[in-house]
Amino acid sequence: MLRHLQSTSIVDNQEYVQTDFSDLQDAMLFTERSQFKNDPANFVKLKNLTPEINNLILNLGPCQPFQNDLPENKFPKDKYNCCFKETYNLRILPDNSKINRDWLSYSPSEDKIYCLHCFLFGTNLHNSTQKTWTKNGFNTWKNITQAIKAHENIPDHITCSIKLKLKKTSAPILPELHHTRNIQISMNRQIVSELIDIVLFLAHRNLAFRGHQEKWATNLSMGNFKDLTVLMAKNSTLL
Ligand SMILES: [Zn+2]
Repeated sequence: MLRHLQSTSIVDNQEYVQTDFSDLQDAMLFTERSQFKNDPANFVKLKNLTPEINNLILNLGPCQPFQNDLPENKFPKDKYNCCFKETYNLRILPDNSKINRDWLSYSPSEDKIYCLHCFLFGTNLHNSTQKTWTKNGFNTWKNITQAIKAHENIPDHITCSIKLKLKKTSAPILPELHHTRNIQISMNRQIVSELIDIVLFLAHRNLAFRGHQEKWATNLSMGNFKDLTVLMAKNSTLL
């Protein structure tokens, strides 16, 4: 049974993200596998990534909890005594400044990391290396530093990150384009409605639609249909 759900990201600096999940049966998965709504384990196994779910995941953003957010207040250690660390979420640039790796998403329920960008925009998903970052998850913590650097420099990942940036850049103008298109559709419907009124008027009276000559911009009669159209256009803002 479908439920009306709303999600709130409890990580990501307490950023509030609200999304309408009604009519999205798959969205139920977002509530049942992890206490973190943006835990990648909640969605990496989804078979159909609809545009709605795609946008939902984008809005939730990467899962980057602090260790104090975790149930045991620390990242689990593996048999090599290695574990994920919060510092991996940051990339140090040549000038020593730090930027957030917005692609890196940690799954608290699986203790694995995924690439959000490649998962959402990747096309080479059958490649075994890419599958690690999009479907299976990476958790070989002793190699994590090299693995992260290698992944963020491969062409597939760079392409996906560019796609994400383009999507975010174009997103603000999409509502305006949609609004303009809706206005045009509404105007076209009104024009057609007025033309239908003319057709019905002539049909109900068994009047001929056409005349002997029908050239526009003439002082002579152009036939009933065109004459009535010109007449109505005098008081219509659309015709
Ligand atoms: Zn990637």
